[in-house]
Amino acid sequence: MRSQRQVVDYSLQRRAVLREVFSGRVSSHEVCDASPYLKSAARFHGEPTDESCPICHRENLTHVHYIYGDELKQSAGQARNRAELSLLAMTLREFQVYVVEVCRVCNWNHLVEQYLLGRDGLGVAGGDGEADGAVAVSGGGRPSMTKRRREAQR
Ligand SMILES: [Zn+2]
Repeated sequence: MRSQRQVVDYSLQRRAVLREVFSGRVSSHEVCDASPYLKSAARFHGEPTDESCPICHRENLTHVHYIYGDELKQSAGQARNRAELSLLAMTLREFQVYVVEVCRVCNWNHLVEQYLLGRDGLGVAGGDGEADGAVAVSGGGRPSMTKRRREAQR
């Protein structure tokens, strides 16, 4: 998605967990613990992927996108599909997206990545990233607007 920014990738942590499972130090029951809420979110709002489940290899993984942010009000913490995310990204200034992968067969689940979406990242006539840079420079050594806003959300 075009306005996707401040991406945090969790593939290293994911690989570490899988290594523990494959080596036998952690049982697959401990990591295949998707809650009923996560499973129903996967069924109703999930996006299919081409990647097969690393634990059972019986089904492709489903990605669930959870949204957080003050502007979302009562929708915060809910799952949304890609089309709904694009729509929100055009109407809201900024919100956080957490992508979780789920296997609907064995219940394997893990955080894939998180990022920010919203109009704030689209920039004005000039291109990606310029708006953020401008804010950081005018801050004169202080934390950038974006960073302070994120901290306020915690
Ligand atoms: Zn599985």
